[in-house]
Amino acid sequence: MGFKFVFGPVMSGRLGRSLGLDLLGGRICSMDCVYCEVGATRQHTIQRAPYVPAEDILDELETWKDEGHQPPDMITLGGLGEPTLNTELPYVIEEARKLFPGVPVAVLTNATLMPDPQVRSELALADVVLPSLDSLVEEECERVNRPVPGVEAATVADALEQFRSEYSGKIFLEILLVRGVNDSERNLDRLADFCRRNAFDRIDVVTLSRPGTERSAEAVDAENA
Ligand code: SF4
Repeated sequence: MGFKFVFGPVMSGRLGRSLGLDLLGGRICSMDCVYCEVGATRQHTIQRAPYVPAEDILDELETWKDEGHQPPDMITLGGLGEPTLNTELPYVIEEARKLFPGVPVAVLTNATLMPDPQVRSELALADVVLPSLDSLVEEECERVNRPVPGVEAATVADALEQFRSEYSGKIFLEILLVRGVNDSERNLDRLADFCRRNAFDRIDVVTLSRPGTERSAEAVDAENA
């Protein structure tokens, strides 16, 4: 059958054979990154809500399981927007685990909601959290990530640091560099300090591999990525 909220599995260097769950059902995000591969954000918000009821997502996941596929290496919550915006995130994590015992659950996040202790406690239910953090220079963050007004890179970074100190699971940090936007020495120095201070389990520094939302967004040279 055709699925709305379950996609893949896809092979991922970081997660293996990863089965994706979309928790938003549309382009709902607290950012509107110039490099986003799923298109421009339509609902730009940091307001949490049950954008898609957990039961709808879990019903599809159960159907996928009943089709008899080989279990994935990882169930990854992400999709068309920022998954922590969905207030049903903890329920999806717990029930996905019941459907696929032994398969770890990962969450992709832009970390903008991490300053909220409730969101950090929900993320702590996952086995792997994959935050992105592209710039610690506020003007660059504005240009590359275009977050909702009020989101500051420094606050997000502090919250990520706090989460690292509270959480015993794995954190795979991703930094995406766009040429002439967030590849400044100032940003790279700040990110290097940030990474040295925090024991992340993995750090990937990447650049665009496909066209983003903005055609002007370009990849950096390989030696800078
Ligand atoms: S945070 Fe992720 S989903 Fe949201 S706009 Fe950026 S790349 Fe796209």
